[in-house]
Amino acid sequence: MAVPKKKTSKSRRDMRRSHDALGANSYHECPKCGELKRPHNVCPKCGTYNDREVVAKKTTEE
Ligand SMILES: [Zn+2]
Repeated sequence: MAVPKKKTSKSRRDMRRSHDALGANSYHECPKCGELKRPHNVCPKCGTYNDREVVAKKTTEE
């Protein structure tokens, strides 16, 4: 089994992890209702994708 010869210092370990942070989620306005939605996802409010294609219907809340 391959074994590291030296202990990784806290500094080296943390430098390695400097790129591990998660970025903020991206959102785009739904072209139909203007609600913010995740790109490439059906709009959770009006249930449309690519302008007209109704994929899902949500029970009315308003
Ligand atoms: Zn929408």
